Amino acid sequence: MGKFTQKDMIYEGKAKRLYSTDDPDTAVVEYKDSFTAFNGEKRAEMSGKGRLNNLISSEIFGYLAENGVPLHFIEKIDDLRQLAVMVKIFPLEVVVRNITTGSIVKRLGVAEGMKLPRPLVEFYYKDDALGDPIVTEDHALIFGWASEDDLAQIKKITLDVNELLKKLFEPLGVVLVDFKLEFGRDAKGALLLADEISPDTCRFWDSSTGDRLDKDRFRKDMGNVMGAYEEIWSRLSARKK
Ligand code: UDP
Repeated sequence: MGKFTQKDMIYEGKAKRLYSTDDPDTAVVEYKDSFTAFNGEKRAEMSGKGRLNNLISSEIFGYLAENGVPLHFIEKIDDLRQLAVMVKIFPLEVVVRNITTGSIVKRLGVAEGMKLPRPLVEFYYKDDALGDPIVTEDHALIFGWASEDDLAQIKKITLDVNELLKKLFEPLGVVLVDFKLEFGRDAKGALLLADEISPDTCRFWDSSTGDRLDKDRFRKDMGNVMGAYEEIWSRLSARKK
C-alpha cells in the first residue's frame, strides 16, 4: 500500500468492494469470495475465489502494463487487494469474441464453437435492472455514454488487449474464447482499462482437452469450479517471463 491508508467502503459490487484511501485519486479494490451469474439470480460463496481472481487479475494487469496498456491497476497489495487509480466507469461493457459461445449463440442462432475470421467487439449498456442490453456505438454516442474519441480509444485498447492476452495464454495451452472489459476515466481525464480480467470475465478453454477453465463451470453446474481457477493461476504463475 506504500503511503496510502485504506478508508471507507464506497461501493460494493457482486465480486468486489471498493474503498477510498487518504488520496482522492487512489482506491483499494478488494476481491470477494462470491459468485453470481444470470444477472445476480444465481449466487454462491466459494472460499479462495477472491484470492485466485486477485492473483490472476494482478498478474494479467502487470503483463498488460509492461506492454503499454493504460490501466487503473497500480499494484497488488496482498492476497485479496489491489491498489488502483480512482476512475469514473463508462456505463459500457465491452465484449470481444474470438470463438462463438454463450449469449451470441442464443441471440443470433449461430453455431457454437465457430472460430471467427476476426475478433468481434460488442457493447452492452451496464444496467442490472435492464439485464445489460446489447447496444450499438450510436446508442453510446446519442445517449452521451461515451464520445466518438472515447469509443475509438476503447476499441483500439480492447483489440490490443485481445492480441496480448492470446499471446499470453496460447503457450499456456489455453484458448481465449471471449472476454469482457470495462473502462474508466481518471481525475486527469485519462482513459484507462479498469475492473478485472479473470476467469469470471473471460472464457478459457484448455487447448488440448477443451475443458472449461472459467465461470461457465459455475453457470452450468459443471463442478470443480475452484479447480479450474487454480489451474489458470498455476499455469499463469509458472510461465517463463
Ligand atoms: N461477461 C462478463 N460479465 C457480464 C457478461 C459477460 O464478464 O456481465 C463475459 C463472460 O464471462 C464472457 C463474455 O463476457 O467471457 C461474453 O459473455 P456472453 O455475452 O456470452 O454472456 P453470458 O453467456 O455469460 O451470459
